Amino acid sequence: MTREVATPQWVYDGFLMLQAAESVQFGYPNGFATVETPKNIQERLDPQMANRLSDQGVGFVILGGPIGAGMKEDLKIFLANKPLAQALKAKGIRRVLYVNTIGMIFSAPFFAEHPDAVNWVQRTSTGERPIYYTNWQYFIPCLNNDHFMAYTRSMLKTVMKEMEPDGIFTDNYGYYSYSCFCDHCQTKFREYLYKKYPDPQSREDRFGFSSPLDYVTPPPFRPWGLGNTSPHTGIPDTNLVLEPLTQEWIRFRCQRLGQVTSELNQVIKECNPNAIFFVNYVYGGAPGINCAVFHGLWPEFVYPHSDLISAEVAGPPSIAPGGAVQGRNLLMKVAKHYHIPLSTCSSFGLPLKDYKRIYLAEGIAFNTAPIDLIGEIKRENPPQWMRDYRNFYEKNKNRIGHASTVADCAVLHNFETLSFTYTYPQESLVLCEQSLIQGNITFDIIFDRDIDRLDNYRCLFLANVLSMSESLVKKIVDYIHRGGAVIATEDTSALNERMLPWKGEWLKLQKSRLLADLLKLDWPKEGLVCRQIGQGRVVFLAEIKRPWNRDAARGEADQTQTPSPLVQGSHSCGPDMPMLTGTPALAMNHREILEAVDYSLQNRRTIRIEGPENLVAEVTRNDKGYFVHLLNWREDQPVTEVKVSVRLPDGDRIETIELLSPDRETASQILNFVTKNGYAEFLVPNLLCYNIFILK
Ligand SMILES: [Zn+2]
Repeated sequence: MTREVATPQWVYDGFLMLQAAESVQFGYPNGFATVETPKNIQERLDPQMANRLSDQGVGFVILGGPIGAGMKEDLKIFLANKPLAQALKAKGIRRVLYVNTIGMIFSAPFFAEHPDAVNWVQRTSTGERPIYYTNWQYFIPCLNNDHFMAYTRSMLKTVMKEMEPDGIFTDNYGYYSYSCFCDHCQTKFREYLYKKYPDPQSREDRFGFSSPLDYVTPPPFRPWGLGNTSPHTGIPDTNLVLEPLTQEWIRFRCQRLGQVTSELNQVIKECNPNAIFFVNYVYGGAPGINCAVFHGLWPEFVYPHSDLISAEVAGPPSIAPGGAVQGRNLLMKVAKHYHIPLSTCSSFGLPLKDYKRIYLAEGIAFNTAPIDLIGEIKRENPPQWMRDYRNFYEKNKNRIGHASTVADCAVLHNFETLSFTYTYPQESLVLCEQSLIQGNITFDIIFDRDIDRLDNYRCLFLANVLSMSESLVKKIVDYIHRGGAVIATEDTSALNERMLPWKGEWLKLQKSRLLADLLKLDWPKEGLVCRQIGQGRVVFLAEIKRPWNRDAARGEADQTQTPSPLVQGSHSCGPDMPMLTGTPALAMNHREILEAVDYSLQNRRTIRIEGPENLVAEVTRNDKGYFVHLLNWREDQPVTEVKVSVRLPDGDRIETIELLSPDRETASQILNFVTKNGYAEFLVPNLLCYNIFILK
């Protein structure tokens, strides 16, 4: 994926990060303050803080900035930072300013400065002004309002000029609603539709009427889409977005937010080409959430225009009660696809002595560069192991950093499938990716635009990709004929890009999958079907078996059922949305998923580990070498004598395997190995949390 902005190179340095959170302007109006707050703020603004942070190994600080209260009030906050910002700069610590760009308007001070701004805010279908979550003092601005966007650009310019920061961290990035009915949204939505459907015939084909679009309104989302299942296919998602206008609105909003991201980053780069635009992306875009509807966010539109993405809400690595190894590595893969790091927040308040090593190890292994927010600016000293991890990356970044994954598979995240449904394909995707992670199958996440570069991969994984255009399916069939392998599950390719089934008539249930039809194969009713097609291979998997059942008692092992992990997410305006923020357990047919992968790869996976399922591997390479990362999610249970078998790059011979570890308990050493059938086999003497093996 090529970058659309020139991301400054310093972002790849790897950081421990802190944030200044106390503020009078945010604390007092909300009652989130104490009598001592002004004194606390003064302490945190003391330029001496720079020495303390430098001693702690902190290299990146988010300082308080505009909170959406208007320039007069906001200037007070960020100008107070100036002496500290200068002291930090002298110590080589990166300073980024916290800014509310599009998230909220703090009504009383903002409107006092800009009386016209009462009309810059969003409107519901009944004309009300939605508020930010439950906070009645904050309204949600509309990013289709040109006056508001002009204010935001000018505010950013002032901040960049006055403070000369290393970048802007934008919090609350998204719409905080499902729809806006202000005049600007209605006008811009109609313009978007006219551009796409300029003539009566194209409108008739899409909407069932050829009339002008001047009375089209955004959808109210009460309830979702039609609020029922497909009348033609019986696809089991109770909230399919089938109406064309709702589909178009969802895409329009996402595209618009991408455009806004590009514009705002441009403002920053014009002020300082070496400054970053750092976006707090809701949930980091977890695949189990329909973020396109929830917040107007889709990676293909936002990531190419951002320099750093924050997944603040995706909590620290853990092992779920059902045995699933959880973390932020899926989100790191999305960011890696766009060649930028993901910034994680392992915990804001947890004492650093209670942090686990895996919190940082995950970022070194899976992220383009490790960046973790470890709390508030006045933090206790980091434990020795945390300094060791930071120093380890600092010492080795030029060797192991900036590496791409040696991927067995590409997993497709398709816009329509994940934006026009709420649970069914999301569950399948999360479960399949979890199986790949715990089966140690290396993979990349790809998006629709990447379908023309499939030849970079040995296998394409289509996890219940319901919605696919005919041209997309044809490209995949061509890839198979060229020798590629495809795994497709459940209802993959059952609907076209408009969510229409390929066949069927009124009130007659019929399901056909274009991928199977074009390959002249039957879809299995259960289990899996593996077929060689010319040089290529295809596997159809009838079902990804959910490891949960709403009525079942919580399971204790991987293959038993747990209660449904579906939760209801809500934000400022509109009904709750069902979402899956992670899976508690592996799919019931986890072994079958791995069997499908092994068939597709002709049993030539990149890596095999003989050890417990809480060991996770990643294989990366750059022009400096080939790296095997091995992580133990249960660092309180170190393991020894783990057998690793790693596929050598075609034609390569290796001379040494060197073990490096940020764990001071694990000594660096050269390992013995044997090569067999294009694989190197070796024994890991011991693994506490994180080892890297460098193959040369
Ligand atoms: Zn609007």
